[in-house]
Parts: sequence; structure tokens; C-alpha cells
Amino acid sequence: MTGIIRTSWHNAEVLSNQRWTERLLTLRIKTEPLPFIAGQFVTLRLPITTDGNTELVAKSYSLINAPDEAVLEVFYNIVPNGKLSNALAGLQAGDSLEISQPAKGFFVLDEIPKVPNLWMIATGTGLGPYLSILKTAQPWERFQKIVLVHGVPLVNELAYPDLIQGLLAEHPEQFSFIACVTQEANPEGLEGRITTNLESGALEQVAGTHISAEDTHVMLCGNHNMLNDMKELLAKRGMQRHLRHKPGHITTEQYF
Ligand SMILES: Cc1cc2nc3c(=O)[nH]c(=O)nc-3n(C[C@H](O)[C@H](O)[C@H](O)COP(=O)(O)OP(=O)(O)OC[C@H]3O[C@@H](n4cnc5c(N)ncnc54)[C@H](O)[C@@H]3O)c2cc1C
Repeated sequence: MTGIIRTSWHNAEVLSNQRWTERLLTLRIKTEPLPFIAGQFVTLRLPITTDGNTELVAKSYSLINAPDEAVLEVFYNIVPNGKLSNALAGLQAGDSLEISQPAKGFFVLDEIPKVPNLWMIATGTGLGPYLSILKTAQPWERFQKIVLVHGVPLVNELAYPDLIQGLLAEHPEQFSFIACVTQEANPEGLEGRITTNLESGALEQVAGTHISAEDTHVMLCGNHNMLNDMKELLAKRGMQRHLRHKPGHITTEQYF
């Protein structure tokens, strides 16, 4: 017996491919039941033809839907010259693609130590896994305070406003949301990078709570620059990467 779980490929049908902006989309797909833990990702695969050669291109995407929702949802952006993201953007209702099973990944609450405060920090489409987690009962039962921070270049890239407003209305004391917009004015939140707002103290001031090694866990999801810069800033507060064999304060999911 080995512990290796083989990936199998399943057909999925596109239900919709909603555009938030020119480069930001949400793909909704239907496939056979896919058990997963909120925060995990799947691999999507499509045949792509370039210069007469067809290859199967597969990439990872976090699931945004809650595990008990039948329609699978992926929040993605079109990467300039990116093979799969451009092909995904061309899909329409009724088209098919392949999806891997089982879902994978350790960016899930079960992997996080017992602490009262949780900060969920995302750049761009890194928001996705948090939405899945926040749609479940687990975070609301476990944490006294949850702060979701979303960093984007433009205000219109603050996707899923209705879902986030709904969570704020449902959990007014327990939940805070902070948007950090880097390339234009942001009347509804903060301007500038997440890291700049952490350094200036603005993030904690707006959240009404602190980030400390004593009582906080920080989840980071998105591009490697944000992850590395945040880890450096958090290290100054005595916060380290969390590992199963060496408990810490930071859990990460790097998209690129
Ligand atoms: C665990 C995991 C989960 C992921 N979940 C998501 C998700 O939910 N949504 C999502 O949009 N992406 C997600 N990604 C990234 C995704 O897998 C692809 O890398 C991305 O869609 C680009 O694929 P592509 O084939 O279009 O580009 P490629 O042809 O592979 O890439 C072209 C170049 O663009 C760079 N690049 C890759 N992604 C980005 C980006 N987002 N912005 C700018 N440059 C980039 C690459 O470094 C590469 O040099 C995830 C990645 C991982 C590892």
C-alpha cells in the first residue's frame, strides 16, 4: 500500500463565464459530485492548439463555492499571453472542459492552530479560497474576529461585493473587510499596497484589531511578491510560517 492518491479526470460542462472586468472572470461549471474542503483547489484542463499543434494544458484553480454547493465556481484572471487563462475566457455556456479529482491543498482551516483571531489576506483572485471558507460554518464557530483584506489595482476589481456585504451584515461584530486599491482613489477603503497599509498601521486601525504572534493567524493568498513582503513584515512581529511539525502563525497559497 502506498499513500499516493491518483488524479482522475472528469468532464465538466460550463454553465456560465461571467465577466467582472476585461480581465477578471468567474467560471461556473457542473460535473459529477466533487468532495472537497473549503480552501482546496482543482486542476482544469483544456486542449489548446498553437501553430497546428494541440496540447493538453492543465492549471490549478481554487474553488470558491462552498463544499455543499453543487455548482463549482472558479474566480480567475486573464494573464497576458497565458495559455490556459485565455482559453478559459473563451468558454461559453454548454462548452466542456476537464477537471481533476480529488481536490487538493492544505490551505484549509483544519491546518490552522487554535487562536482567537484570523486574518485572510489576498491579492487579486487570491480572494477565492477565502470566499469558500467564509461560506461554511467553521470560521464563525472557531474565531472571535475574522479580517478579510483584498488588494487590487482598480476599484472595479473588488469582485463579489454582494457576498462580502452579506457576510458583514450577518457577522457585524466578528467580521471586517478591508479593500486596498493601488492604482486609483478608493473612497470605500484604503489606498496603496497591503504591505504599506500594514507598515503604517492603517490596516489594524481600520480592522479595529491587531496582528500579533500571541493571538493571530495570518493566511496569505496570491502573488509571490505580496507573500514574500508580508512574511518579511510579519517576521518582525515574531510571526513565522506554520508547519504541522513546527507550529507558527502564517499559512500561504502562492498562485504565481
Ligand atoms: C494552488 C494554486 C491555485 C491557483 N488558483 C488560482 C485561482 O483560483 N485563480 C487564478 O486566476 N489563478 C490561480 N492560480 C494560477 C493558475 O494556476 C495559472 O497559473 C494562471 O491562470 C495562469 O495560467 P496560464 O496558463 O494562463 O498562464 P501561463 O502560460 O502559465 O503563464 C504565463 C506567465 O504569467 C505568469 N502568471 C501566472 N499567473 C499570473 C497571474 N495571475 N498574474 C500575472 N502573471 C501570472 C506566470 O508566472 C508565467 O510566467 C493558482 C495557482 C496555484 C499554484
